[in-house]
Amino acid sequence: MEKQVKKNSSQKTSSLNSNNYYDHSTDFDYMSKSIYWNFLQCEDAALAELNGEYRRFQDETPLLVGNYLHSFFESEESHQQFLDDHKKEIFKYGNPEKGMKKAFVDADKMINTLKDDPYFDAIYQGDKEVIVAGTIDGIKWKGKLDCLVLDRGLFLDLKTTQDLHKKYWNAQEHTYQNFAEIHGYILQMAIYQELVKQQFGKKIAPFIIAVSKQDIPDKGIYSIPQELMDDEMNKLIKKQDHIKNVIDGKEKPEACGRCAWCRSKKELTNIIPIDWLKIG
Ligand SMILES: [Zn+2]
Repeated sequence: MEKQVKKNSSQKTSSLNSNNYYDHSTDFDYMSKSIYWNFLQCEDAALAELNGEYRRFQDETPLLVGNYLHSFFESEESHQQFLDDHKKEIFKYGNPEKGMKKAFVDADKMINTLKDDPYFDAIYQGDKEVIVAGTIDGIKWKGKLDCLVLDRGLFLDLKTTQDLHKKYWNAQEHTYQNFAEIHGYILQMAIYQELVKQQFGKKIAPFIIAVSKQDIPDKGIYSIPQELMDDEMNKLIKKQDHIKNVIDGKEKPEACGRCAWCRSKKELTNIIPIDWLKIG
């Protein structure tokens, strides 16, 4: 894998910064884990979303809850800024005096379980929200690290999830997976590890700190076996050219036939014998 990953020291990273990192325009210049992952689920839906024809999530609350928690552990100023920017979504009737909506009361429980942990504070010390960019086998990628601790040779990523021990059915792989596998977090860590190596010249180890959305939140800190990340990187190198070509309009997207976007476009064009119906 090492050989296939090209380092490009002339890579322009100056154009990416904390103000424009999430700008939609950068999505066409840089591949990101979230966009790439969308394409792995359904190319047709991902392309429609990229082109602004479709929005996967009608309810943005889970995303906001994650960002709320991240901003808390980034800095006091970031958290205050987040509260000011999202009054309508966070507070009842958009009024801080009326109290927070339930999702954010629950988010505070998740924050507290980490904040009050005797080890968390010592572990989660480093540079926050560090933007990394580079070129993987000829394609530009970007990423954002929650917490980079370069001198200790590690980086940390905060994840919120329903239940750390929940099993998820992966219909593509025909197997049950844990929360990190089903959401592509191992792939994400592999990408970030490579981008950090290109940008800082050091191969360092990722850790996931996960906290659950349960009434009494669970938490865990997880290392990622290098061979799992190497597998993900090899799969990415095989697959990314096609996805980039789909984004650039050079190849046709494939439709999964099952997701909300595909269902909304469905027409009764062919009859399928009932025992051919795909399940699982
Ligand atoms: Zn689909």
